[in-house]
Amino acid sequence: IRWTAGRGWHDAQLVPYGPLEIDPANMTLHYGQAVFEGLKAYRQPDGGISTFRPERNAARFRASARRLAMPELPDETFIAAVEALVRQDAAWVPTEAEQSLYLRPFMFAMENGLGVKPANEYLFMLIASPAGAYFPGGVKPVSVWLSKEYVRAAPGGTGAAKCAGNYAASLVAQAQAAEHACDQVVWLDAAERRWIEEMGGMNLYFVYGSGEKALIVTPELTGSLLPGITRDSLLTLAGDLGYGTAEARISVGDWQQGNADGSLTEVFACGTAAVITPVGSVKSTDANWTVGSGEPGEVTMRLRRALLDIQTGAAEDTHGWMHPIA
Ligand code: PMP
Repeated sequence: IRWTAGRGWHDAQLVPYGPLEIDPANMTLHYGQAVFEGLKAYRQPDGGISTFRPERNAARFRASARRLAMPELPDETFIAAVEALVRQDAAWVPTEAEQSLYLRPFMFAMENGLGVKPANEYLFMLIASPAGAYFPGGVKPVSVWLSKEYVRAAPGGTGAAKCAGNYAASLVAQAQAAEHACDQVVWLDAAERRWIEEMGGMNLYFVYGSGEKALIVTPELTGSLLPGITRDSLLTLAGDLGYGTAEARISVGDWQQGNADGSLTEVFACGTAAVITPVGSVKSTDANWTVGSGEPGEVTMRLRRALLDIQTGAAEDTHGWMHPIA
């Protein structure tokens, strides 16, 4: 779907996958006006297909576009595009448990020119790829590197937007994590390098206590972390399961202290791609520690199951999160 200043959205097309021709002066290549989303379509027990909370992705896509001075695609157009592609690719939505079709809506400038200004032309596209089970051999905890040298986003910046530049800015820290034999980067706040923000492409949750009395806490939305849809869903779902929930500031010191005194029992990350991933160990320039037992925790696994059961139709969708594709 194209957008042109003075004309708005036009020329929606469903075409076979193939290359794009881009002018060397395409403004995206120089000034980075590029935003995207990620959501999944799941096969249901009756053979139908449903997407998970696509209206939230549509709303976040508009918010990301606004932050980058790009036009807002109406939610109904975003959802209609998702539905059209899922219908077209229905045969590619896997029937196996925990597998899905990952959908990637994105938009970028299509005007050519070297002046720094919002472009007058944009292209919205949507591609899809079948996603296998994230942990085919069973759920494995990840090791994380606390990045003190680099930050992903700063106050007033684009951290709450899902824009390409945030991911470009994260690559060097991800490489640093790998050099320290860690799977993922955990981002701290820009001002103090003290408050936990998020992890790679996932939000974080801290579990205090255990069993029915567990309290799950996630870093509050400061404007420099992405408001994850999985994060939001878990605040509700954890409440359904009887756990306490809170959004709060959590420092590296709180994490280390909670771990040392045993009050912090589990940590997990959540996002569309991996659903829920336990965090098993932490490394930084001055400390290393194992999170809880280092194994996937009971609360983590219970929440993971509850969310996947809703997504795959094994449990009742009491919050109206699933969006059946007619
Ligand atoms: N943080 C970042 C930086 C991400 O890229 C993602 C993935 N979109 C998330 C968090 C998790 O968001 P969601 O639950 O909407 O996938």
